[in-house]
Order: sequence, then C-alpha cells, then structure tokens
Amino acid sequence: MAPKVNYPQRMCVACRERFEQKALLRLQCKEQKLSSYNGIGRSFYLCLECVENEKKVTRALARACKCGDMKYLSTQFKEIITDVRKS
Ligand SMILES: [Zn+2]
Repeated sequence: MAPKVNYPQRMCVACRERFEQKALLRLQCKEQKLSSYNGIGRSFYLCLECVENEKKVTRALARACKCGDMKYLSTQFKEIITDVRKS
C-alpha cells in the first residue's frame, strides 16, 4: 500500500472547516491590530472562500481578535487583502 501523504491541516476560523495550510490565509491580531502573520505570536487562518465573504469574515475576525469594532476590523482586513492580491 502506498503511504498516504499527510499535509498539515488547519482550521478556518470563519467556517471551521479544515484545509491544507497552504490553501489558507494566515493572519494575526495583536492588540486589535490585524496583519498578515509575521512569524511571531498567535495566528489564525481563513480559507479563501471565507475571505470573499465579508460578513462572515468580519464576524470571525471579531471573535479571533476579541474586538467588537466590526467596522475597524473590516477596514483593516480589506487593506490586508489588497496587499495579498498585489503580491
Ligand atoms: Zn472558511
């Protein structure tokens, strides 16, 4: 029997489904400041499908960041997404 390749699986904080790590967007939130993961501290993942769903993503961000200011989170998130798409 051929060995099964096991990719690391991570959970999307918005839909709670598991995906391969490389199919996810990794973010972090420090003192309610949202950014792409820089390798330090806590991080969380969003799948590319949820990234397109602004309402869903904002709710998930509010949970992940423990921040109730949805508008602020949504603005920050849009900036990150714009950067991600440029690169
Ligand atoms: Zn998702």
